[in-house]
Amino acid sequence: MKKQYIAKTQGSKNFAESAKQVMPGGVTANIKSFDPYPVIMEKGDGAYLYDVDGNAYVDYLLSYGALMLGHGHPEVITAVQNQIKEDGTFLFGTPHQLELEMGKKIQQLYPSMELVRYTNSGTEATLLALRMAYAFTGKHKIAKFEGHYHGGYDQVLLSVNPPIKNAGPANQPTAVSESKGIDPYHEENTIVLPFNDLEATEEILKKNKDEIATVITEPIQGGFIPATQSFMDGLRRITEELGILLIFDEVKTGFRIGLGGAQSFYNIKPDLTTLGKVVGGGFPVGIIGGKKEILELSAPSASSDVFDSSQSHQSKAKDTLFHSGTYNGHPTILAAGLATINVLEQEIEHVFSITNQLKQGICELFDKHGIGMQTVGVGSIFNVVITEKETINHYRDLQQSDFALRRELDFGLLTQGIYTKPLNRYSIATVHGQKEVNHTLEAYEKVLAEII
Ligand code: PMP
Repeated sequence: MKKQYIAKTQGSKNFAESAKQVMPGGVTANIKSFDPYPVIMEKGDGAYLYDVDGNAYVDYLLSYGALMLGHGHPEVITAVQNQIKEDGTFLFGTPHQLELEMGKKIQQLYPSMELVRYTNSGTEATLLALRMAYAFTGKHKIAKFEGHYHGGYDQVLLSVNPPIKNAGPANQPTAVSESKGIDPYHEENTIVLPFNDLEATEEILKKNKDEIATVITEPIQGGFIPATQSFMDGLRRITEELGILLIFDEVKTGFRIGLGGAQSFYNIKPDLTTLGKVVGGGFPVGIIGGKKEILELSAPSASSDVFDSSQSHQSKAKDTLFHSGTYNGHPTILAAGLATINVLEQEIEHVFSITNQLKQGICELFDKHGIGMQTVGVGSIFNVVITEKETINHYRDLQQSDFALRRELDFGLLTQGIYTKPLNRYSIATVHGQKEVNHTLEAYEKVLAEII
C-alpha cells in the first residue's frame, strides 16, 4: 500500500525532501513525521484537507483534535474578524473582557474549575498544574500513568510510549525516558503507575505518599482508552485519603468526550484540570483551572506590582506562585474558542451520532472479513484497534494489537482520500456528515478487500 501512497503523493515527497534542508527531519514537531514521508497539506475546507498534489481527504486528524468544527468554520472566522475589527487591536497586554467571558463559560461547563488561568498550550497548562501541586502540598515528586501524554517537557516525557522490554512489570512500571537529553533526575522523581489497575496503583501511591504531590492522568488514555468507572472512583478516593492532588489532563478529552469533558462523564471532581486544543478554536491555547485555594497561590501579592519583570523572578518568588506569558489569554484566540464552544453547544449530539455510525460501519466491515478488532473510544474520539482481545484497558493491551495490519490499512485509506496519520486515532467534527461516513466506509471496504 505504501507504493500506491508514494505514486499519489509525489509533490509531498519532493516537498518533504526540501523541508529536510530547513528543519530537522523536515518537520516542526516529531509527531508530524511518518515513514516514508508525511502528506503535505495545502488547504482545508470543512471536513476536507487538500494536499500539494491536489488530492482531497476527509480529515479525521483535525489537527490532533483541535478543529472540532472542521476547517474554516464561518462562525470562527467571523468571531476572529470581528474581534480584530471592533477592538481595533488584537493584543492588549492587560486583562480584558473575553478572559472573563471565557472563564465564566469554563466555570459553567467544568464546575471543578473554580478559577482559571490561560496559557499558550496544553504543555504550559500541565506544567503550571504541576508547579501548583508542588507549591500546595510541599511535596516534590509526581506520579503519572504509563502511556499517558501531558506535553513535551522533562517531568512528564516519561513512559508515554516505552518499549515494553524496558518498561518493567505491568503492575509496577519503570520510568522510561522518551527523549535524549532528559536529566535522570526526572526518572527518579516521576513515579509511573499502571492505568486501570487500582490495586497496584493504590499500593504504589501508599508507599510514596509523603513524596508524591500529585497524580496527573489522561482520564481517557490517549483520548480513547477509558478508565473504568470503578478505577476513577477509586483513584479519586485514594488520592484524597493520601493528601495527593488529582490532575485531570483534559487537553484531549475536553469538549470532545462531552461538553463537560471526562470529569462530567465520570462525575468526578479533580483538584486541577487542564484544557487545550478545542478551547482555542484552532489557535494555540491552554487553560488550567481548579480549586480556588490552589489557584489562588498564583494571585499576585500586594507587593508584586512595584516590581517590573526583570526583578520579579527573584523578588516575587517567595510570596506568590509565578505564572506569566506575553500571549496568555490572547483575545483573538479566546474569541475563536468561544465561537467554537457556542457551535458545539448546538451540534455536539450530531457529532456523537456520526461517530457512532462510523464506528458501527467499520466494525461490520471487519466482521465481514472475520478479523478481530474494536473501535475503542468515547464521545467523538475513537481508535481502530485490530486485536482478538475483548478489552483494551491500557498501553500494554494496545501494544499487543496488530500495528502492521493497521498501518497497511491506513496507507490504503490515504490513497482512497481518508486522512489520519498512520496508527492515529479518529476525531469527528461537526462538519462530518452522512456523505463523509459513506465515503469512508466505501474506502474501508475497498482497502480491506485488498489487504486481507
Ligand atoms: N496533554 C494532553 C493530554 C495532550 O493530548 C496534549 C497534546 N497532544 C498536551 C497535553 C500538550 O498540548 P500542546 O500540544 O498544546 O502543548
